[in-house]
Amino acid sequence: MKTLLGILLLTATSLSAYDYALKPVRVSSDVHCFFGKPEIMDKTNNGNIVNSCYIDAGEGYVVVDTGPSYSYAESAYKAMKKIKSLPVKLVINTHIHDDHWLGNNYFTEQGIRVLGTDDFKVNADMSEPTRMQTYISSEAYAKTKPTLPSEMISSDTTLNIGNQTLELKIAKHKAHTAKDMVVFLPKSKVLIAADLVFNDRLPSVRGGDINGWLTALDDLDKLGAVHVIGGHGNRTDKDAARMTREYFTQMRNEIRSAIAEGLGIDDTIKKVTMESYQQYKLYEGTHRHNVEASYRVLEWE
Ligand SMILES: [Zn+2]
Repeated sequence: MKTLLGILLLTATSLSAYDYALKPVRVSSDVHCFFGKPEIMDKTNNGNIVNSCYIDAGEGYVVVDTGPSYSYAESAYKAMKKIKSLPVKLVINTHIHDDHWLGNNYFTEQGIRVLGTDDFKVNADMSEPTRMQTYISSEAYAKTKPTLPSEMISSDTTLNIGNQTLELKIAKHKAHTAKDMVVFLPKSKVLIAADLVFNDRLPSVRGGDINGWLTALDDLDKLGAVHVIGGHGNRTDKDAARMTREYFTQMRNEIRSAIAEGLGIDDTIKKVTMESYQQYKLYEGTHRHNVEASYRVLEWE
């Protein structure tokens, strides 16, 4: 009897996927997004710390970033089907950080194309357990199989899908990562800027480049977007990149002054505390690393 109950319970748990209870938010008539929490991934948020968007292309959806796990991608698509029951025509991965693409295999197992930059070939580390595998619950991570994009592009590309034109633009220089891709919809002037824009937590430039990042933001400005959606944070008006831009501009100015004064890296980290940014989430774990990484770039100027 005990064993039978055990088998029944086991079957029940293996059938029920972890439910992220995701709620899509309408950004424009053709774009809905899921906005993650301004937190570090853990077993409570289970990686729901990142944004994922659905573009309505009339005949189907284009998904931009698939989130931290298979279950996340499944929860998101189920929620979108309640808004409009459309098939997914294409998935786009904006960059190699694993909170943005570990939901890929939910789509690839249905035969859906996934497109990313060729940076996945170079810099996506597939040998180690992923960060999500390490930090979120095994229940939430279940069924996740790290799956790289099936198609990789190396330069800007324009796609026509259903009633949408999608302009895929790759930052010219190393910025948040070695290759950051954004998606611009000229019809509705929506820019999905991914991790070039953070606005409710401090951005992280570790592995990136402060100069390239600020240049990339200038280039995005020229698109004249009406809605700008970042990879983290739920502000989506045309000035949604403001915090990221102001933060790195002030940081660059202060580090340049410190270098001009002859300060070394440790003293610069102590000096460039930028207290007004302490109000933002993740200041503690992120800010000093940003100063350190940026000092190493700026000291060569
Ligand atoms: Zn990222």
